[in-house]
Parts: sequence; structure tokens; C-alpha cells
Amino acid sequence: MSKVKLFLGRAGYCMAKSSHAVKGEPSKDIRFPALFALMYHPQVGYVLFDTGYTKRFYTATRNWPNKLYAVITKVKIEDHETVVEQLAKMGLTPDDIKVIVLSHFHADHMGGLLDFPHASIYCSQQAFDHTMQLPRITAFSKGVLKSLLPKDISCRVRIIEECCTSETDTLFGKVYDLFGDGSIVCYSLPGHAAGQVGVLVQTETKQFFLIADACWDQRAYKQQRLPHPIVRLMFHSWKSYCLTIEKLKQFHQLHPEVIIIPSHCSESINALIPEGAVLHEI
Ligand SMILES: [Zn+2]
Repeated sequence: MSKVKLFLGRAGYCMAKSSHAVKGEPSKDIRFPALFALMYHPQVGYVLFDTGYTKRFYTATRNWPNKLYAVITKVKIEDHETVVEQLAKMGLTPDDIKVIVLSHFHADHMGGLLDFPHASIYCSQQAFDHTMQLPRITAFSKGVLKSLLPKDISCRVRIIEECCTSETDTLFGKVYDLFGDGSIVCYSLPGHAAGQVGVLVQTETKQFFLIADACWDQRAYKQQRLPHPIVRLMFHSWKSYCLTIEKLKQFHQLHPEVIIIPSHCSESINALIPEGAVLHEI
């Protein structure tokens, strides 16, 4: 089995209500960091998991109806916080990124795609199909900003189910081994967004499970404390979401040594990388 180096970073954040993230919490404004991960694979090279926000979010939401997306989420991103700038601090250029794995096509995960014009984009069939069939004018209501998609995405997309070898996981069913060596394995985590995936990453010392928005707060899979039902309006399938959390709960019980990382859970992320830090190896 190959092992990868794993770096985590935050590329901007949006604001949310704690009472929405976890039902029953007192209502206060909290930050949802836009997590991304950089992996270094010994044969493939550099791989990104999600791409955070860039200032293009502001341009894409300048006019109605997309503006509603910006009004609700209150996104904050500075140029120096973008993935591409954080990579530059490590001496990496966009062309050093060969592969991007997208958990799903919401703007806080795919917002930096245009900065990487030569990377292959891996995603699930359902995530891709769902995104492409959304009408441009109403896509924002599903968290998608079509102007942030590369024009050549259909040529660069690699459908995980077609390109990767599969194996069967007792809890999650079919999982897909990105490079056929067990280093990065894609798991289907449906519910929050159509065709969402996460990745189980093997480093030299540990396994990390990057679960994107499968839950927003670690208390969901640790204590079954779900978000406020109002967020159902934004979710692809509440039923699938609850089922995914149940599987994560069981996964955590079976594999307590694996570090589970929800993309917007500050408590989980701050335990791994200092607040305000740029891309950081864990
Ligand atoms: Zn998200």
C-alpha cells in the first residue's frame, strides 16, 4: 500500500448559525471554514481534495438571483487565503496539481477549480450529472455557481465509478480506490449534496477520513446530534443524510483510530491545524 503526505488548509469561510449546525444549540453566529486538503502521492504527485473559495465567489454572486447565495452565506475570502496562494507559499504552481477530487459541486468546495486549468477532476457520476443538468439561473439554489465551472470540464472530468477499481466495504458498500494502491479511497456519502464523496487517506502514521459535508459538526456522528430540520431545505436528501451519519457513527465505533474530518467543523479542524495557519502537514 502506498502512503501519502497529507496537508490541510482553510480557504476562506462562511457564516452559519450554531443552532442550525446542531439542533438545540443556542443561536449564535459561527464560522464554517472551507477546508481543503493537499496530498502528495509518491507516484502521482500532488492531489487536491476540494478547492475552497476564491474572490470569484463575489463576482459570481454580484447580481440577482445568485446574490441571495452571498446574502445568506456571508462568505469571507482574501486573495492570500486561496488554495493557489497557499500552494505558492510551498513553492507549488497550479500545474503541479495533477488531480483534484471534488467531494461535491457546492461553491465552497469547487470555488477554486478555475485556478487549476490542467488538473483532472475526479467526482462521482451523480455529482457530475446533477450539476450539469441544473439550469444556470437556478443552480445557486442548489449551492452551485455555474460560472465557477471550467468551460472544458466535460473533457477533464474523470468519473470515479468508471476510472477506479472498486471493492466492497461492509458499511458503505462499493468504495473506489483512486490509484489502485489503497492510499486514497473514495466513499459515497450521499444526502447533503447529490453524489457527495469523501476520501479515506492513508498516511505514514494514520488514516484520515475527509467526509466533506456528510456532517457539519462532529457531534452528529459522535452523539447523534443532527442539524436543525430547517436545513433540509438545502439538502439533496434528508433520508440519505441520516443514513450516512448512521454509517459514520458505526465506522467511528469500529475504527476509533481513524481521524474523521468534517469540512466545516472548527473543533475537528482546529484540533489538527492551528487557527489562522496556512497549509499544514498533519
Ligand atoms: Zn460545504
